[in-house]
Amino acid sequence: MLRTGRCLALLLGFAALLCAADADLILYNGKIVTVDSRFSISQAVAVRGGTIAAVGTSDAILHSERGPKTELIDLDGRTVLPGLVDAHVHALEAGLSEYRAPLPPLDSFTAIQQFIRAQAAQTPKGQWIVVPRTFPTRLKEMRMPTHEVLDVDSEHPVLFDASYVVVLNSYALKLCGIGRDTPNPPGGEIVKDASGEPNGILKNAPSLIKGLDRTAHFSQAEKLDALEQQLKRYVAAGLTTIGDRGTNPEQIALYEKLKATGRLPIRAVLTWLANNSLPAAELQRQIEAAPYTTNTGDSWLKFGAFKLILDGGMTIGTAFQRYPYGPFGKQLYGKTNPDDRGQLFVPPKKLLAVMRTARDRGWQLATHDQGGGAVDAFLDCLEALNREKPIARTRSHLIHASFQSPEAIARMKKMGILADVQAAWLYLDAPALERVFGYDGMRYFYPLRSYIDAGIVVAAGSDHMIGHDKNRAVNPYNPFLSMWIEVTRRTGRGEVLHPEQRITRAEALKTHTIWPAYLQFAEKERGSIEPGKLADMVVIDRDYLTCPEPEIKEIQPVMTMIGGKIVYRAR
Ligand SMILES: [Zn+2]
Repeated sequence: MLRTGRCLALLLGFAALLCAADADLILYNGKIVTVDSRFSISQAVAVRGGTIAAVGTSDAILHSERGPKTELIDLDGRTVLPGLVDAHVHALEAGLSEYRAPLPPLDSFTAIQQFIRAQAAQTPKGQWIVVPRTFPTRLKEMRMPTHEVLDVDSEHPVLFDASYVVVLNSYALKLCGIGRDTPNPPGGEIVKDASGEPNGILKNAPSLIKGLDRTAHFSQAEKLDALEQQLKRYVAAGLTTIGDRGTNPEQIALYEKLKATGRLPIRAVLTWLANNSLPAAELQRQIEAAPYTTNTGDSWLKFGAFKLILDGGMTIGTAFQRYPYGPFGKQLYGKTNPDDRGQLFVPPKKLLAVMRTARDRGWQLATHDQGGGAVDAFLDCLEALNREKPIARTRSHLIHASFQSPEAIARMKKMGILADVQAAWLYLDAPALERVFGYDGMRYFYPLRSYIDAGIVVAAGSDHMIGHDKNRAVNPYNPFLSMWIEVTRRTGRGEVLHPEQRITRAEALKTHTIWPAYLQFAEKERGSIEPGKLADMVVIDRDYLTCPEPEIKEIQPVMTMIGGKIVYRAR
């Protein structure tokens, strides 16, 4: 009797254990691309309590993990990838950009002029018209417009926005009192034509622009809504984690509010973008006073890097290069001096002092460094810090590093520095940039093969900032477009730029999964489909690993899952 009782208790205990082991959900009969250390492929995956319980053959998983309440999804042969990561977005800016009205695609002077005429028809006379951010590298003319291009309307001041560079029409120049004798503002330039008259192009001169309030007037509720909607668009694109690369205290508060109210639809890692124009002492004070540092937070919302913007942009000719922009730079960017190398915004001494304070507070360090000169400047800073204590454990990284060199790559490797890369720029901007720098000058433009061969961790990000559409936005955030570019290095004109820098499909997938997870100190909890990790996955409509190459960019998510919950299903 005693023996039977004990057996029964044991049996019951065993049954309870079995029940506890039932999966909440099983995806089976598919192709599970796990991105584990062996890049193994499986058929089925079981999810329990928001994490991955088991991966294996369909038979084995259905046999061992299925219980009476387990939800079953027959993948019907479809491919499942780990949830994709975009390591570099600007979600609020993007979300607000088309919140009230859609933006037209502006890829030529004609399109810009049509936009101005349409706006003029509905804007009271004398009020500003702003042409949404457009880069000359992406215009058919491959030329920075001057005031004549914008002078299609004479009753409104017009501003063409290329971020650090803007162009004014004649009305606006007059309104702002900018003439041939106006002195350049500190650190800025009023570009003049051959006769000495301003041609409309202003560089780093926001103080000269009068009567334009560019701070968009959105209520907090609208900002929260715009941010939430944009984050949902990322989920629909197959992303399960984003790195927001430009958050300030206001944006951080918006993310925290979304999370606190159960409205955060995607995992977010926030980069604190500090204001590089503040004096070093003030930046250091802010760093000391900040209540957060890298890894403060949880798996849904946490802090990543501390960031400073070190130089300008290659799309507007202000990226700080190792060599001058030359004659074509004059046309493309409206430069007056062909020997110009761009701008370094933070002097080396200030950079080192601020970054040292940030490191001592536990921050991962990053800078926007687009030109080769800026890359070298940040590496100098990191080397100085590395001499004090090894920098590798901070997983610090270069953001963009568009113009690389073998020497800089070797320095990154030596110190354990990572790269945040934007493949889409190769597609969008390389044709114009090749005119500036020549084919050889583009050899180390996003050199992914060189990075990977050197053992440098590469995290792919879009730098999405304007527009809602995943393929047409500035910059497009479709991760499959990004992976296709990484694999093919095909530009928008169809040619292949330095094919020796192409990477494999498996590697491209890693740049959007396990490698950005590593950059975000999260490789132990996500980035691959392995037992114990968070159940972040995306089911796609064709086989990423074997579909014809041109189709990679056409891949559509069928279902996105975060933490075991299905958060998106294609209709
Ligand atoms: Zn950015």
